Amino acid sequence: MLEKVLIANRGEIALRILRACKELGIRTVAVHSKADRDLIHVRLADEAVCIGPASSAASYLNIPALISAAEVTDATAIHPGYGFLSENANFAEQVERSGFVFIGPTANVIRLMGDKVSAIEAMKKAGVPTVPGSDGPLPDSDEEVLAIAERVGYPVMIKAAAGGGGRGMRVVRDAQHLLSSVSITRTEANAAFGSDVVYMEKYLEKPRHVEVQVLADGQGNAIHLYDRDCSLQRRHQKVLEEAPAPHIDPQARENVLKACVDACVDIGYRGAGTFEFLYEDGQFFFIEMNTRVQVEHPVTEMVTGVDIVKEQLKIASGQPLSIKQSDVKLNGHAFECRINAEDARTFMPSPGKIEFYHAPGGLGVRMDSHLYTGYTVPPHYDSLIGKLITWGENRESALTRMRNALEELLVEGIKTNIDLQKDLVRDTEFQKGGVNIHYLEHKLGLS
Ligand code: ADP
Repeated sequence: MLEKVLIANRGEIALRILRACKELGIRTVAVHSKADRDLIHVRLADEAVCIGPASSAASYLNIPALISAAEVTDATAIHPGYGFLSENANFAEQVERSGFVFIGPTANVIRLMGDKVSAIEAMKKAGVPTVPGSDGPLPDSDEEVLAIAERVGYPVMIKAAAGGGGRGMRVVRDAQHLLSSVSITRTEANAAFGSDVVYMEKYLEKPRHVEVQVLADGQGNAIHLYDRDCSLQRRHQKVLEEAPAPHIDPQARENVLKACVDACVDIGYRGAGTFEFLYEDGQFFFIEMNTRVQVEHPVTEMVTGVDIVKEQLKIASGQPLSIKQSDVKLNGHAFECRINAEDARTFMPSPGKIEFYHAPGGLGVRMDSHLYTGYTVPPHYDSLIGKLITWGENRESALTRMRNALEELLVEGIKTNIDLQKDLVRDTEFQKGGVNIHYLEHKLGLS
């Protein structure tokens, strides 16, 4: 087993990783920016190192500072969490070159999946169904671009190959707007991601976002942990997730789960990963793969009993997968509400001091959060301050638990989206299950 893990992240996920390390008897190193001295996991870790000023660029994204921290603390491995450097192939490479274990796939696989064009190509080869589209980067020739759109059929979506975080995407409904949209997306992609490579996909009008969790050991063994539905989104950002995805065609599900496992073996995948799909009219269409642990991983843990972060650590220590596919049994249903420090109306971040914090509890209730009374949410980072997760023997009981748990959750002193979540879990369409990715924005009157 790994001896000492440096946690290259902050907030709730840093605490989540710390807990998994402790259960496995692994020593921990917390790294933090100057604004993050008061994070709870910094106190709980065996060692803590300040890696730079508040700005992420100077701290959590500062590769030399992270590697030095691993050197001075004699860490064995680095866990990148999600966001920050978790899908940065250069970071993974430098970590391994410096003699540490990167807890994730190899740099080559991160690179392959990080470029959405090459990811789609690899998935096609492995037999994973993809969205009809340009089959590669868009060419420079206007005529060719117009011809591709004719073939795919409007509406189409122009997407940045290096895009992420819901940015670098544009819908085009007719030929008249195509070329200008391609050119704007190219410019934006270049500015945001340093690459102007774009591709085209058929724009699906009413899909759901359904994703498949996988675990692979890089030694030829891979399993899936079933699926999640993350269709409730605002600006392509997930708000409320559940596992398993409700009302999915059983044959389509079986096929897609198998295709994901086969693809992991095909690309030599190692670690935890997620295949993201759009699901429309009983069909799955691959959109991208996340080569890291995801924010919404707890809903899968609740219905499978598998600790995904512990599995990541075991895989990184070189152990073959200890769980067989036949050991993975779906049990009940789970929901996750993301709790954000933000204004309910404008969605602007709302940092500040937590005057009072009370977490809900009871059977089937889990709160993954770094909050405590007196903690100050800094303005420099993502507004996620916690995740409330509930489990029930069926969808209805898990949802009832979520309604009650949200009533118990108290976060005072800053603005949060708790009221929005309370509203969502009472929404009659959502209660039925299977709303599409536009549902939340329609409900909020944003589209
Ligand atoms: P990112 O890497 O930025 O998260 P994704 O490719 O995963 O980008 O897409 C994010 C979201 O954008 C999806 O969950 C979905 O809501 C929407 N989306 C992406 N591709 C399409 C498409 N072809 N048709 C309709 N919606 C799409």
